[in-house]
Parts: sequence; structure tokens; C-alpha cells
Amino acid sequence: MLSTKPNRRRFLQIISASVAAGTFSGCKRKSKRAKKPPKLRNEKKEVESFFDSRKKALKKKRKEEEKRLKNKEKEEEETADEEEREKELEKEEITKRDQLRAKPVIERKYQMRGLIGFSPKYSIFTGENVEEISKKLYKWGINAVWADKRTLANKDLLDALHAWSIQVYATVGLFNGWRGRNRPIRSDGTPLRSFIPGHWYQGSCPNQPNDISRALGEIQLIAKKYDIDGIWLDGLRYPVFWSAPNPNAHMTCFEQVCQNKFQNYAGITIPKQYLTVRDRAEWIMKHHADEWVDFKMYSITSLRKI
Ligand SMILES: [Zn+2]
Repeated sequence: MLSTKPNRRRFLQIISASVAAGTFSGCKRKSKRAKKPPKLRNEKKEVESFFDSRKKALKKKRKEEEKRLKNKEKEEEETADEEEREKELEKEEITKRDQLRAKPVIERKYQMRGLIGFSPKYSIFTGENVEEISKKLYKWGINAVWADKRTLANKDLLDALHAWSIQVYATVGLFNGWRGRNRPIRSDGTPLRSFIPGHWYQGSCPNQPNDISRALGEIQLIAKKYDIDGIWLDGLRYPVFWSAPNPNAHMTCFEQVCQNKFQNYAGITIPKQYLTVRDRAEWIMKHHADEWVDFKMYSITSLRKI
């Protein structure tokens, strides 16, 4: 600056003042540079951009934090609720257990206390009329009797029993007694022998059409003829005498009617090369034991639904 001449110095002073005041228009390049300093604007943009992204990042972080806190609160609430529920359940369990302990295991609204094979001819009723017999049963706590047709035919007795709130059921014996083809056949091909020789129960095959239609006819007749509350189907099973210390339960019945019904039921054909009952029974039990047992259950339950 020391070497600068006075005029030039003055010129530079004027230029500087004009530039500072924004009024200098002698040099467009300089003027542009003065109005829009590119370096400053870029810095500002960078700063703004940085802080904008920072704000966004922080906003996101804050939201995530809020979300995390909310979830945490929710979890804590749920845990508290769960604990509360568990406590309540435990309380309920204890109450239930105490109630069960206090009461009998099975609570019945109606308990049937009956006599099977009831007859007014028993010696305990000697000399008593129907009214006295019914009153005696009532006093014993009896509220149902099972009787055969001879007893059911006594209308006065049935009326007296009903008057003392005693229900009357007919007993119908099924599949008992051997007649012709209804004797059950065992898996070795031999007929079933008496469970107890000379005993009244000799279980028969439950699949014989004649026996089934005879039983149905009897049931219909009883239902129409007598003033009864129900019918007990006694002996509705494959033959076994279970009222014994060691019931002898044989796998029956393998005669032709049962074999045919089984094949129809299960959709199975016993191979023709098996000719004897023993061989055919062996084949069934070896290859289709489950279907065989199902068929037997079906035979009995389907009869119950007729
Ligand atoms: Zn049979």
C-alpha cells in the first residue's frame, strides 16, 4: 500500500465504499460475487441440511423411545394383570376344591332307588293289599320297580305304585335261550356251552333276524298294553354271564349270519379259500380284529336305536 499512488488509493476507496453500500455497478462480476457469496450459502445449506437430518433422526429416536416406553408400560400392565388373573384363578381353584370337599363327589337331583324283579307275591308282602305294598316300598325309600308281564298286568297295583310316586319299568329279556340257529359259535367253530349248566341264562346270538323281530314285537306290545314308565332291555349284549366270580367271556359269534353281517358292515370279503368257521374266524381276527370289535359294538347299539 505504501507504493500506491494517491489517485489510485482514492479510486480504491470509492470502489470499496460503493461495494459496501451495494451501489457499485461498474463491474458486474464483482457485483454478483458481492450479492451472492456462494461459499456462505453452501455452508448454510449444509448446516441446515445437517440439522434437519439430525432433527429427523432425533425425532425418530424420540418416537422409538416413546414407543419402547409405551410397550414397556403395556407389558408391565399385562404382567400385572396376568399376575392378578393367576391369583384370582388360584383363589377360584381353592374355592372349588373346598366346595368339592364339602359336598359329595356326585350330586344327583334324582336318585333312583329301585327293586329289580319286583313281585307282590314275595313273602314280605304276604297278606298286604296293593296300597299297603306301595306304602311299604315308599317308606323303604324305593322310587322305582322293575317287573315282568304278570306283575304289570295288575292294574290296581300299578295305580297304587304311581300314587306313591314309584315308577314302574317293564323288564324284557333279550337274547336268552337257545332255539335252532341262535346258539353262538365260538372262534374254534364249536357252539357256545352253558356258562353254568342248568342255569336260566343261556346267551344267544344277537344278530338273528327272527329273534330281533320277536323281541321288537314284544316290546311294542308291552309299551301299548301296560301303564309303565319305561322298558329295561335285559341281556342286550353278546352272550356272557357276568354275574359270576370269574366270567367266562368267549369271542363269539362266528356263524354264517354274523359273518355276512360283518362283511356288509365293514365292506370286507373273507377270502374264499377259507372254508371252515375256524379258518374264517382266524382270518378275521388276524387281519380285521378292530373292524370285528366295531361291528359287534354296532350290532348292539344299532338294536338299541331301532
Ligand atoms: Zn351269530
